[in-house]
Amino acid sequence: MCLRTTADQRRVLAETSSQFTHAFNMVACYGWQSHEKNGVRLHHATYYQAKAQASGLVSDLIIQARVKATEALASAFTRLKNGRKANQPRSKFCPPRYNVKTYSIDWDSETAALSVVGSKGKRLRLRFTLPTYAAKYHGCEVDTADLICKKGKWYLHIVVTVPEPEVISSSEIVGVDLGICHPAVTSKRKFYGTAHWKEVDRRYFRIKRKLQSKGTKSAKRHLRKLASKQMRFHRDCDHVLSRRIVDSAAAGATIAIENLTEIRSRVRQRKGEQSRRLHSWTFRQLRGFLTYKGEERGIKVVAIDPRHTSQTCSRCGFQSRHNRKSQSLFVCRSCGYTLNADLNASYNIRDKHLASFSIALAGGLPSNSLSSQGSQEL
Ligand SMILES: [Zn+2]
Repeated sequence: MCLRTTADQRRVLAETSSQFTHAFNMVACYGWQSHEKNGVRLHHATYYQAKAQASGLVSDLIIQARVKATEALASAFTRLKNGRKANQPRSKFCPPRYNVKTYSIDWDSETAALSVVGSKGKRLRLRFTLPTYAAKYHGCEVDTADLICKKGKWYLHIVVTVPEPEVISSSEIVGVDLGICHPAVTSKRKFYGTAHWKEVDRRYFRIKRKLQSKGTKSAKRHLRKLASKQMRFHRDCDHVLSRRIVDSAAAGATIAIENLTEIRSRVRQRKGEQSRRLHSWTFRQLRGFLTYKGEERGIKVVAIDPRHTSQTCSRCGFQSRHNRKSQSLFVCRSCGYTLNADLNASYNIRDKHLASFSIALAGGLPSNSLSSQGSQEL
């Protein structure tokens, strides 16, 4: 959510952030030099010094700075342990972490009250505006929040606890194929996304190749711009796809999707154009969106092994590389079943999950389900 601030209030928020960052860096420096990553020992060793140096912060904000520094130290030491490079954690701007002891939200008046420096214990009250996509979280129970400054504007990133949906169990299983010809095809015979997306993506690729061959400084700058533009485009596509797929499934249903980590092996057979498109597409993101959008309606997302899903006949089970007549048409060499190739794959994905499900019921292999979290970031 965006905070509405005056120039004076912005100065107070900036000073609060600056002191928080100072406390973070101090703990990180101590921990790095003394090879300490234990939170309790770091607390005892640094608390009073941090309190003296970041004198405007209430105790709990100092503790949160130490918690963040502990996390950063732990991951740096883990990197070192794994033989990778790591430097002392340092931050130019470490967003203050607020919790129930240091802030509150009043949904009725749309006000946030934050503990800040130089207010003698009084919290700074700020009106906020909720982005439209987050309007449905209005009134939710709040967890921690990070205070962030972006281009001169101040935002509070809040983690809210979404009430568990009433679990309506549905036996429906929807297979989703992230297609070669269509962005997504479900076993309910629905095709999502348009061929136009692929065209846009190709255009990005062509411009990228041109710029890369130039290699000049300005070309590199344009490349960076292009990369973030392409990332935004993919994100928008993934939002559209995930929303449509989730809305098409019954509440409590299961969505079966291919496990993206194995996507590369599947693509290996297809050189050139296709492999490039699939490699550049953000499957991990789409799967994440599906998972959190599904949660609100009790829909579970499971990942299955993608091998052979595009080569197997969904009617008779015959598997052959030659079953795929073209990229868009599947023709079974054994029984002659003919249908859209991506649709055939989506049937196979659904059936594969069904099969693994019955194995699990019989006490065999557990189905490969995605972990889900009960929290949402605003
Ligand atoms: Zn067949």
